[in-house]
Amino acid sequence: MITGALILAAGIALGWLLRSLPARRKGPKPVEAKCGCGHHHSMHDPETGACNATVQVGRYNQLGDWTGYEHKPCACRRYSGPEPLPQFFAPEIAREAGE
Ligand SMILES: [Zn+2]
Ligand SMILES: [Zn+2]
Repeated sequence: MITGALILAAGIALGWLLRSLPARRKGPKPVEAKCGCGHHHSMHDPETGACNATVQVGRYNQLGDWTGYEHKPCACRRYSGPEPLPQFFAPEIAREAGE
């Protein structure tokens, strides 16, 4: 009878464990390699890390009136987002069911 109780307890524990884990989704969600500056990783120089993208900024005249947009080089000097390569794999946790 002890064995049966153990299996029951293990089943309850496993069910609780599975419920407490985030639900498994179909396929991993792709990590978007976006920097804090909002530009993609590919916009950043691999050697210097500087962002090569341009940012659209409003342009104003001396009176403070809106005169349109202008594009300036992004001020970002280093990519700060998630590493895009090669891919993230959630390591399969070796399940030790306590056999
Ligand atoms: Zn950046
Ligand atoms: Zn940028």
